[in-house]
Amino acid sequence: MEANQDGHEFIFRSTLPDIYIPNHLPLHTYCFENVSDFKDRPCLINAPTGRIYTYAEVHLTSRKVAAGLNKFGIQQGDVILLLLQNSPEFVFAFLGASFRGAITTTANPFYTPAEIAKQATASKTKLIITQAVYAEKVKDFAKESDIKIITIDTTPEGCFHFSELTEADEDEIPAVKINPEDVVALPFSSGTTGLPKGVMLTHKSLVTSTAQHVGGENPNIYFHERDVILCVLPLFHIYSLNCVLLCSLRAGAAILIMQKFEIVTLMELVQKYRVTIAPFVPPIVLAIAKSPDVDKYDLSSIRMVISGAAPMGKKLEDAVRARLPNAKLGQGYGMTEAVLALNLAFAKEPRETKSGACGTVVRNAEMKIVDPETGTSLPRNQSGEICIRGSQIMKGYLNDLEATKRTIDKEGWLHTGDIGYIDEDNELFIVDRLKELIKYKGFQVAPAELEAMLISHPNISDAAVVPMKDEAAGEVPVAFIVRSNDSKITEDEIKQFISKQVVFYKRLARVLFVDAIPKAPSGKILRKDLRAKLAAGVPN
Ligand code: AMP
Repeated sequence: MEANQDGHEFIFRSTLPDIYIPNHLPLHTYCFENVSDFKDRPCLINAPTGRIYTYAEVHLTSRKVAAGLNKFGIQQGDVILLLLQNSPEFVFAFLGASFRGAITTTANPFYTPAEIAKQATASKTKLIITQAVYAEKVKDFAKESDIKIITIDTTPEGCFHFSELTEADEDEIPAVKINPEDVVALPFSSGTTGLPKGVMLTHKSLVTSTAQHVGGENPNIYFHERDVILCVLPLFHIYSLNCVLLCSLRAGAAILIMQKFEIVTLMELVQKYRVTIAPFVPPIVLAIAKSPDVDKYDLSSIRMVISGAAPMGKKLEDAVRARLPNAKLGQGYGMTEAVLALNLAFAKEPRETKSGACGTVVRNAEMKIVDPETGTSLPRNQSGEICIRGSQIMKGYLNDLEATKRTIDKEGWLHTGDIGYIDEDNELFIVDRLKELIKYKGFQVAPAELEAMLISHPNISDAAVVPMKDEAAGEVPVAFIVRSNDSKITEDEIKQFISKQVVFYKRLARVLFVDAIPKAPSGKILRKDLRAKLAAGVPN
């Protein structure tokens, strides 16, 4: 990575040469381009059942799903919603939709019915693929909106079974012409401000991002076909979707699918399947660092632990290094809008970066650090907003030109809303967050979403939600509330009011009553002041 004085700009790049990225190819073509080299190798290992699917099987089943989607009326450009825990069917459905030229939006199956309905409406979902246990949450909404529901396990009344998608013949797969700029994935993210929005990721963005990590002679994360990659992070988040699924497929590695995180099962599986790469988030790293059972299992096969989605402190890094001495440990730094990692450890060769750093910028991309006040780019060792440019970044937010313009400037720089600096060894350190976002164990909590719910309550006249540090979760949401005249509404009542409407990690950890929410003359909430208040101590 070099810091060039490019006109007036300090621009940082990888020290590795750019690589050729065939990002004119559709995503599925790119992922399966080398499939004939490893068609009989294990592609998916479904941990709950022990069933192994070869690359040839995954390729064929995904294509059959494309034909099946067609039979269900899914046209090119239509959106399907996956409401699934990690499972082989998630993979078949995502790839099948890509083969069909359709778009997949992914949601957390723990979302409440209202949260799912919001996303399905915003994305104009035509079909939902889910598990029987979650079908109840979407039934009413799907009926009203004429959306078909497919379940992957049992079939509650009114739903279709996943096998109806895979029954099609190969020759029924419709021929589709895909443009590299066509959207293939539509995860939701609140970005730097406001409500969750659909992030339009194109075939080109996802091929580029995958190639940035596994392509070329000097791949950043060195997945290869002998690797067994642990897939415990939810595939509905871009980190797992791209880093685990797409990178592994391209490399020909085996993907060990865990439906949910449980520390002892995880260690049993690592030992049994000789897992070599473990993409984690800090709370899982913490669980391993603290588990009294680690010494009972042989975890020596792990050669690489990647941690991303939220910051990991030095203490935690050191603790996990002591427990997994054979593994290289590296942080990745990513963002849904930039697809996977902007930055990654192991960038030059499998070596570790400094403690607290999250690697160096990926290839075929540019990074700059800008002064948030003046917008000018800054040299090394000066903190500012991290900006990234490259073909991997999103096309924009779905139906939200304003938010897109605020995030991607005229020169194509994506403004991350994170504050950091790059040191003399080209390593990036994240020091703060400019944006509103709260991250609970790597999951997004958008303050604007909670604030909108809070101010809809008749006994609340104003509200602001900010993050509070928390050892287990990283951050938790805390609300500052101005009661309406004469209202006596309590902390518990407000907490319950929110809990009923949101997934567990968006629940309020605390509610603090104030006379007024501090605001700038423009009306913008002065969140920094509120964060400082929390840092100074919260009354019991
Ligand atoms: P998401 O779009 O859900 O992946 O969230 C992206 C945001 O998570 C980033 O903009 C950062 O604020 C935060 N984040 C991701 N990786 C890291 C990391 N390694 N260290 C600190 N924050 C991170």
